[in-house]
Amino acid sequence: MVDALAQLRRAVEILGYDDATFAMLAAARRELTVSIPLRRDDGTVEVLTGHRVQHNLSRGPAKGGLRFSPEVNLDEVRALAMWMTWKCALLDVPYGGAKGGVTIDPRLYSRSELERVTRRYTSEISPLIGPQIDIPAPDIGTDEATMAWVMDTYSVSRGHTVLGVVTGKPLPLGGSLGRPSATSRGVTHVALAALEEVEVSPAAATAAVQGFGKVGRGAAEFLAKAGVRVVAVSDQYGAVTRPDGLDIEALALHVDRTGSVVGFEGSKAMNSLEDLLLLDVTVLVPAAVEGVLHEGNAHHVQAQIIVEGANGPTTATADRTLADRGTVVVPDILANAGGVVVSYFEWVQANQAYWWSVDEVEQRLADRMKQAWLRVREHAAHHQLTLREAATSLAVKTVAEAHRARGLYP
Ligand code: GLU
Repeated sequence: MVDALAQLRRAVEILGYDDATFAMLAAARRELTVSIPLRRDDGTVEVLTGHRVQHNLSRGPAKGGLRFSPEVNLDEVRALAMWMTWKCALLDVPYGGAKGGVTIDPRLYSRSELERVTRRYTSEISPLIGPQIDIPAPDIGTDEATMAWVMDTYSVSRGHTVLGVVTGKPLPLGGSLGRPSATSRGVTHVALAALEEVEVSPAAATAAVQGFGKVGRGAAEFLAKAGVRVVAVSDQYGAVTRPDGLDIEALALHVDRTGSVVGFEGSKAMNSLEDLLLLDVTVLVPAAVEGVLHEGNAHHVQAQIIVEGANGPTTATADRTLADRGTVVVPDILANAGGVVVSYFEWVQANQAYWWSVDEVEQRLADRMKQAWLRVREHAAHHQLTLREAATSLAVKTVAEAHRARGLYP
């Protein structure tokens, strides 16, 4: 949360807002912590903890992912919810920000145990969610099956099917074409725009991608398709490199077969996961977890451009170091916003029960990402700000103006 608050503090300073406005924007509107008793497959009972934080509701219902990870705690969920508020405002998606999480390592639980966790969690937070209230979506450790369970549990309790209560659903349940690849496509759109900005053609560029999950895998694939040489990729088990470029399609098949990038034929294992972040590449895409670029390694980052596929991968201290070194950092609230943009498209389609073609979804996504990039880039250039300062202050201004226009009740 310290990094999210530091970013907000800076935006408020740039905008010349007072302390009361900072206090209003710093505090989450609602936070709910719940216990989730789980009957394990062997009959024993375990009690897990979950959270749902709604950071802001000024511009519409709250929106944000649901994370299953051993790292989940209230402080992290608060920060992630705040970033969702700025992301939605920056992309002009009519939502506030939220985030949910359960402290659990999903790899250690069976599918039916995860279903029971999801259903109990949904039931516990159900007074706070709904298509006009708060709309969860996938995040680390959750997927479209999780969203189907959330939707089913919520719908059963209401007595009718409510498609708009979550996004990132499977297609037969009112999911949107183009949603699974949306975050990665968005990352790629802004990465290519940033390359154009520094006047490096995709064919002359190299990239390293940290994380080979929902965001990193697609980003590596789309960057490679655009002609960028992806020279290193990592997951939680290890990092592999090939200076001539990895065959991402073959790597994806290897991961489907073995569960990890480790041991991919024709690649070399890197000594440590951190080494990938320090490679001399044109574009670095941290697409795993928060805080991987920090005080201890930011001085050694050689990439020309960082495109934040993950939420919060750069600490506030590292951000300053990178800015001083002239590294172009495309901030998370812009770079990885493709997911929530297509979540919004999914919600619009579900609420209207009218479905768009994949081309329509992808074209609208590309337009929004490019427009947001241009807006942030121009604002940064005009006011001599970093891309993060520009993006955050534009977003904070949008939210603060909505808040002011509504007035304070009572
Ligand atoms: N979990 C994704 C994010 O962090 C998507 C959220 C959503 O679609 O609501 O942006």
